[in-house]
Amino acid sequence: MAQLIDGKKISAEIKDELKEKVAALKAEGREITLAVIQVGNDKASTVYVGNKKKACEYIGVRSLAYELPEETTEEELLNLVKELNARKDVNGILVQLPLPAHIYEDRILLAIDPDKDVDGFHPVNVGRLWIGEEGFLSCTPAGVIQLLKRTGIEISGKNCVVIGRSNIVGKPMAALLLRENGTVTICHSRTKNLAEVTKQADILVVAIGKPNYITADYVKEGAVVIDVGIHRNADNKLTGDVDFESVSEKASYITPVPGGVGPMTIAMLMCNVVRSVGK
Ligand code: NAD
Repeated sequence: MAQLIDGKKISAEIKDELKEKVAALKAEGREITLAVIQVGNDKASTVYVGNKKKACEYIGVRSLAYELPEETTEEELLNLVKELNARKDVNGILVQLPLPAHIYEDRILLAIDPDKDVDGFHPVNVGRLWIGEEGFLSCTPAGVIQLLKRTGIEISGKNCVVIGRSNIVGKPMAALLLRENGTVTICHSRTKNLAEVTKQADILVVAIGKPNYITADYVKEGAVVIDVGIHRNADNKLTGDVDFESVSEKASYITPVPGGVGPMTIAMLMCNVVRSVGK
């Protein structure tokens, strides 16, 4: 039976460490401010933004909330981003996605100063990640690395297989595992004989976006399995991309859903926010 990797506990540890860092910075007279922009009132976004504000409050970071109406134009949003880029008292800028359909998301993300881009989505930060320069890391994959490291799981030299090639999870995940000296394979919707590839994995990161898709047949005995997926099933319960019941019989370590990767995303966002003060 696999050991559980406790994302709730690890994310709480990280937030407590950050709280101490922020207090030390405050003692030197340095305040951190994060600007959080939400356009429209998508319910899920309101919950995410609320959680981000709460996390800021917990670690001692000031958050400036911009709640803009649905009919905000792209130009108005761009002007706000430019204004926040120029403000010396604003360290980080976060634009909650998705934006309404009439606003071109990529144009907004590109307008954010890369040194204030705490989500790590700006192409400059994506490039920095791939060439091994310092920059803001994409939060969910950075959280996976922390889960592995803080559980004492060695990445260097291991066969790491990532299922999924999205810009927010799969690709940055592969780059980060490579940075940790893993031997990395990326699988995607056109991969042939998926189980043959995934069974080579010492560390299998699943971000396929399909509930309970990865069963024990895809997993090598003793592998470490990280489930990035989040879905709500018919009973309104959260479930992942991995079939926890069968896979936990075979894996050595596994992340549960909820309580695995999920809580790490905000913790890593807070890491980026604290780092933004030095930029
Ligand atoms: P996505 O839909 O953008 O990407 C899914 C990927 O899976 C694609 O790259 C696709 O090529 C691949 N794929 C689809 N079918 C496949 C198949 N049969 N075989 C192999 N590969 C296949 O999803 P995403 O945004 O990367 O998110 C993945 C999952 O992670 C989702 O469940 C999402 O809800 C979850 N997620 C969680 C967090 C978090 O904070 N924990 C953050 C982001 C995403």
